[in-house]
This record gives sequence, structure tokens and C-alpha cells, in this order.
Amino acid sequence: MSEWSERPDPGDPRGGTGDRCVVVGAGTMGLGIAYVAAGAGYLVELVEVDPDRAQAAGKRLADLWDRAVGRGRLTAEEAAANRRRLTLVGGLAEVAAEPAVVVEAVPERLELKRAVLRQAATLRPALLGSNTSSIPIAELAAGLDRPERFLGLHFFNPVWAMALLEVVVGPATAEQTTAAGVALARRLGKDPVVVRDLPGFATSRLGVTLGLEAIRMLADGVASAADIDKAMVLGYRHPVGPLELTDLVGLDVRLDIAHTLQAAYGDRFAPPPLLEELVAAGRLGKKSGHGFYRWVDGSKVDSPDGEPTR
Ligand code: NAD
Repeated sequence: MSEWSERPDPGDPRGGTGDRCVVVGAGTMGLGIAYVAAGAGYLVELVEVDPDRAQAAGKRLADLWDRAVGRGRLTAEEAAANRRRLTLVGGLAEVAAEPAVVVEAVPERLELKRAVLRQAATLRPALLGSNTSSIPIAELAAGLDRPERFLGLHFFNPVWAMALLEVVVGPATAEQTTAAGVALARRLGKDPVVVRDLPGFATSRLGVTLGLEAIRMLADGVASAADIDKAMVLGYRHPVGPLELTDLVGLDVRLDIAHTLQAAYGDRFAPPPLLEELVAAGRLGKKSGHGFYRWVDGSKVDSPDGEPTR
């Protein structure tokens, strides 16, 4: 068996293929990645340092499996088998060496991610990936043992529902690592795109461009928020309009990304004043109950803010 191949252990009593997948961080993304990996037959260790977060993740995962059975997507036996393949652990120190893959999904802070990745690399995984949405892979790879095995694995939320996986190739990433990232995506039921390590990768750069322009159009009084969104939904078959999507992502998150992209590419990514004003006023989108639309109990209220806000 080549050093690059996964290490099947078909004798494992928990079933699956026996390949081990370690996911670090059991937040929104990490638990989704762990859920999907367990469903793909991996033996998953989901690492979470915060006991409250770990408990919440365990409950959320149980809900996800129950819902999948309730909706007929999994049989009760399949859900039970997936559940048996996933273990929550309190720290990377508890994880055995040489897993097939480690995916880091801790908060978007450079020094935290670097520390977690350095520790994860000591496990000598065949493939080491970061779910960063904006930090350059080259910066995360600095000082990393075996950087040729490291790359970006940018999943989308919710992981079980979103087909895309952005495979981000850093300057030190080996071709075999990229191929392994693409193979991992397919095994997890995702459709990969391979992108170079430039700020915003492919998705944020394009998505934020559209979102910022829609906000400028709203400020210019071109149309109401609802009509700007409707134009893209009906005219371009986007599943959701750029302003509603900004509400879902979070206006503060989009503002941060705009600043990052402005630093990298110049003023074409300068955030519109309206976006800065709304964030300063606490209108962050769905999570705060008000962005370009109003949200109650997680649902968009029918009557959107029709007129431009300024
Ligand atoms: P989150 O805050 O929901 O979860 C992060 C988890 O990591 C927390 O539970 C935290 O306790 C845990 N953690 C912190 N330090 C740890 C450590 N040393 N070891 C183990 N666990 C640790 O964050 P999230 O939204 O899941 O985002 C995670 C990453 O995914 C970020 O880089 C983010 O940019 C990226 N991302 C997020 C989304 C999204 O929609 N939320 C989409 C794509 C990518």
C-alpha cells in the first residue's frame, strides 16, 4: 500500500471502511463535516475543546440522524451505524496517529488555526485540510510539518445539503494532495472545484462582488431590496437573491470579507457605506432579526424593507 493511500481496517466492529477522519472543532461547520464523513463510512473523531459546545454538537448530531430517518433519507439501521462511527473527543492529544484525513474547522483566527494545524500535523495524516473561508493557505502552511500534504477544504453551510467543495491549492501543496482532496470530496458526495490560493478563492470573490453591487443599487434607489433579489432569482435563476443571501451569511461577515478583498484587490471591493452603517446599527441579518429583511424565529418576514434605507 502506498504511503498516500488510506489505511482500511475492514475488521473494525463499527463497520464502514475503517478509514479514520479527524475533524477539529464541533461548531456549525465541523459537526456538518463529521456528519457527512460518518455517512461516507469514515470512523470519525470530532474534536471539541469546549465541553458545552461538545454537548450541543452531540445533541445536534442526534437530531440530524433522527430527522434523516424521519424523512426516509436513512434507515434506522444506517443512522445507527453512522452514529456508532462518530466519537466526540476533548482534544487532539486523545487522537491516535496516522488518520487518513484531518479537517481543521476552528474559528477564523490565524494564530489559533496555525496552532491547531501544527498539532494536527504531528498525527501525520495522509491529508491535512483547513476549512478556512478567507485565510490564505500559504499563511496557514508557514512552519507546518509536511506542507505538501496540506490544502484548503472549503465546505459550505449546511455541509450535508451543499454540493460544492472548494479545494484550495497552496504554493507547497503536492499534486497528489490535490488529487486526494478531490477524491475526498467525491467520497463525501461533494462536487469539487480546484482553485488557486488567492484571496476570496472563487466563491467569496464572486459572491461578495454581487452582494456589494446589490447593496450599492439599493442605496442608489434602483429598486427595492425585494425587487433586486427577485431580478436575480427570476432573471438569472439564482436560488436566492444577493441581499437575502447577505442576510443569511451575516452583514458583518460580508463586511469583513469585503475589507480583506479590498486590501488584496483594491477599491473595487470597497464596502458600500450602507453596509457599514447597517453593521454599525446592529443590523446583521438573520442572526440579529434584521438586515435587509426582518427575520422572526429564523424565517424571513413577508414584507421586506421595500424602500432604500438611506
Ligand atoms: P464555530 O465558531 O461555529 O465553531 C468552531 C468550533 O471550534 C467551536 O465549537 C470552538 O469551541 C471550537 N474550537 C476552538 N478551538 C479549538 C481547538 N483548539 N480544538 C478543538 N476545537 C476548537 O465556527 P464555524 O462557523 O463552524 O467556522 C469554522 C471555520 O469554517 C472557520 O474557519 C470559518 O471561516 C469556516 N467556514 C464557516 C462557514 C459558515 O457558514 N459558518 C462556511 C464555510 C467556512
